[in-house]
Amino acid sequence: MSEWIACISCGTRYELTEIRYVCDCSGPLSIERDVSVIPRTLFDDRRPGRTPVDQSGVWRFRESVLDIDSSLIITHPEGGTRLYERDGMLFKHEGENPTGSFKDRGMTVAVTQAKRLGVRAVACASTGNTSASLAAYAAQAGLPAIVFLPSGKISAGKLAQTLAYGARCLQVHGDFDASMRLVLEASSKLGIYLVNSINPFRIEGQKTIIWELLQDLEWRPPDWIVFPAGNLGNTSAFGKALREAVQWGWISRLPRLAAIQAEGANPFYRSFREDFAARHRVAAETVASAIRIGDPVSHEKAVASIRETNGVVEQVTDAELMAAKRDIDRMGIGCEPASATTLAGVRKLRTAGVIGKQDRVVCILTGHLLKDPDSTMASVPERQIVEIDATLADVERALR
Ligand SMILES: [Zn+2]
Repeated sequence: MSEWIACISCGTRYELTEIRYVCDCSGPLSIERDVSVIPRTLFDDRRPGRTPVDQSGVWRFRESVLDIDSSLIITHPEGGTRLYERDGMLFKHEGENPTGSFKDRGMTVAVTQAKRLGVRAVACASTGNTSASLAAYAAQAGLPAIVFLPSGKISAGKLAQTLAYGARCLQVHGDFDASMRLVLEASSKLGIYLVNSINPFRIEGQKTIIWELLQDLEWRPPDWIVFPAGNLGNTSAFGKALREAVQWGWISRLPRLAAIQAEGANPFYRSFREDFAARHRVAAETVASAIRIGDPVSHEKAVASIRETNGVVEQVTDAELMAAKRDIDRMGIGCEPASATTLAGVRKLRTAGVIGKQDRVVCILTGHLLKDPDSTMASVPERQIVEIDATLADVERALR
């Protein structure tokens, strides 16, 4: 077999067509492949391509994502997100994906695999972005989608999106971690296909955030890649992406990863502070709902990513991340609160001397500004919005 599912803990291999999310030893799974070295020029040659698979920022790298006939790929297409230069830093905006978050990168792969397996329905637990993405790709694939959402804890924008694309929403009494436990149990008992980031096919798609970034930098790696950390799917995927990029000769030097958590949802940060001696679980509370996760499923893989890249894990307060969000918004870029942990984290790490003055930094913004309008409205200065009568006098008074 040229592609297989491997257990990270014990090395057991499973066929690609087997439906499973953890090993019999309960270790996490990863997709691995035998490939001769792929020249990166292949991806550069595809860049101006006209077909959806070449236009997709995921499937442009298809030999290293999933070995499947192009006619079977469910692609919007996705990816191809922009890189913005502001204040001497770069921001890659994954909120420019079709459903407004980076989740589309993993979802195109997981739903393509679901279709190939012939499953009867797809499901996920979500803080909102995953459910919107799943709903959109399931609609395209003609598969029923079932999403498990923590009741009352999803932003209105994300819930509306999920419902609009046609998913069945189960609003679970409890937090995200309760939804996650429930969907794991339901998927194994009820035969529905689980596409949370515990599903290793999701990770294969999320790797392409890094590869596309490196391609946009003409394969010259930055010193730092900074990103929000919640369920740790991206932390896992980014480490794998960099490992493979070195292995296949696309880059010769590893950038350092900086995973940033909200202080109220910081189990990975706590673990990092103890050199990963223990795994922590917390009751999560933060304004950044996309990373309001207390028991991340991809802990082990994420530890490997941080260790291999000489990476760091930092935490920021809600006040720090909302201040950073206002600054990103005022740059004319905009993002949802979780994404702003990046800039807040960079500021903290620069002050601490971890990130140097001359270091080249890329922040990954994971979700669009419009994903969470309530949190934005709550932090807009009152004087910025004025109600007036329809008279010139009132306009003049308001602008004084
Ligand atoms: Zn195992």
